[in-house]
Amino acid sequence: MHEFSIVSALIEQCEQLALEHQAKGIARVAVKIGALSGVEPQLVKTAFDTFREDGMCKGAELEMDVAPLELDCKACGAHSIPDEIAYLCPVCQSRDIKVSGGEEMLLMQLELIYD
Ligand SMILES: [Zn+2]
Repeated sequence: MHEFSIVSALIEQCEQLALEHQAKGIARVAVKIGALSGVEPQLVKTAFDTFREDGMCKGAELEMDVAPLELDCKACGAHSIPDEIAYLCPVCQSRDIKVSGGEEMLLMQLELIYD
């Protein structure tokens, strides 16, 4: 499953950061999931619960935020967050747009546990 490899990489990233900061454990992991990332929050939660079992993320709380699709229009310069997923500028209807947000899953915050 797509989510499992993403979460596995996320946990690795968290553990790496915890090690770098000489932390004892991880209390909280906050991620942002792009509306277009194709990642299902419920599956992320399930995968997180599965993978954290014996690592530093054991006992960590997972917080998820969905990041909306963001577009930059190359025709009129508008930056917009459309209500629905459409590759179209809502201001001038141009299709000459660049997606500037909402496509990835990002680690936003990590709360570490020290002695
Ligand atoms: Zn436009």
